[in-house]
Amino acid sequence: MSVWDDVVGQEAVISVLCGAAAAARGLAEQREARAGSGVEAPPSATGSGSAMTHAWLITGPPGSGRSNAALAFAAALQCTGPVPGCGQCKPCRDVMSGAHPDVVRLATEKLIITLDEVKELIGEAQRRPWTGRWRVILVEDADRMAERTTNVLLKSIEEPPPQTVWLLCTPSADDVLPTIRSRCRLITLRIPPAGAVADLLVRRDGADPALAARAARASQSHIGLARHLATDPDAWERRRRLLHAPVSLRSVGDAVLAAADLVESAESEAQTRTAERDAAERADLMRALGLEGEGRVPPALRAQIRALEEDQKRRAKRARTDVLDRAMIDLLSFYRDVLAAQMGSDVERVNIDLAEQIDRAAASTGPEQSLARIAAIEECRGRLRSNAAPLLAVEALMIQLRPQAR
Ligand SMILES: [Zn+2]
Repeated sequence: MSVWDDVVGQEAVISVLCGAAAAARGLAEQREARAGSGVEAPPSATGSGSAMTHAWLITGPPGSGRSNAALAFAAALQCTGPVPGCGQCKPCRDVMSGAHPDVVRLATEKLIITLDEVKELIGEAQRRPWTGRWRVILVEDADRMAERTTNVLLKSIEEPPPQTVWLLCTPSADDVLPTIRSRCRLITLRIPPAGAVADLLVRRDGADPALAARAARASQSHIGLARHLATDPDAWERRRRLLHAPVSLRSVGDAVLAAADLVESAESEAQTRTAERDAAERADLMRALGLEGEGRVPPALRAQIRALEEDQKRRAKRARTDVLDRAMIDLLSFYRDVLAAQMGSDVERVNIDLAEQIDRAAASTGPEQSLARIAAIEECRGRLRSNAAPLLAVEALMIQLRPQAR
């Protein structure tokens, strides 16, 4: 067992990161030796050409395991075992469980990373490591940052303290400003093979092997989606209903209803996902404020409760956006299959369980229509991400997906 076990199908990336972690260990040992001998350290311990560097941009398509890879790298940097990333030593285990004091992780569940959050991270980045050899600052979704925020971050990435390492994760290198990109070493994850994703679901989540294989294929190797399909019994039914909708819509009225249905089910799924945690956080805060069991909140403390509620509202919105985005990926996979059928291509279908609907859709339309629908889904995804009203965006999409005479 090592920290790389869950980074599936990414052998090339793992070998680069392992090399960097080994180089980092060498640098840290040199530094410790110098500190012991009283000789001053050179200004940069990680010059160009070294396998190790201070800023990394870890990219890969959604679901390919970017943050898993970043976390495993953080563990390998802190590892004290025989091989960096052993998975057995205390630092490795602490990093993987989120308990290591020198790995600061910003995993935003909101749509935007705020300037205050970035300033706090920069403060964290300035500290010396408490117990580890490196201070690692891991930012998931580094693309969710306004330009002004990014510019503040840039300064810290340019001249970090010698023991600080920044790990930024984004879907692609184009998702951050060129100024950030040019200061980071780029790591690109590929879409993992479906077989590797299925193996992970069986090993890590205890999924049934046949179900795991089906889930990996239906999710097109998106690890999070595959896990969802393999572990949530309602997920297949929701997916079937979703993919059935576009071929069964008869009128604009149907399209509007289907849109409402989709947005509503996204809301309720997001709510189930966040409700429990919201309640626990509120209880924690009430306890911290000494208000446990009290019905009324004194006016002086209301601002803190309100701040928590605002945070939770933003998180609920992000959860809803994620659920809708997953629906969009499912729809894309459906029209990809339709298009493949129309082109007479023999690529393996994603939706093996929907052969009849796919064949029907393929026979009743042409490839140009399928391409237009794929473009419409991409456009809807973009609008959902840019904060458009979900119902309006999905309605517009459903109207475009409605079967039309050729
Ligand atoms: Zn270790």
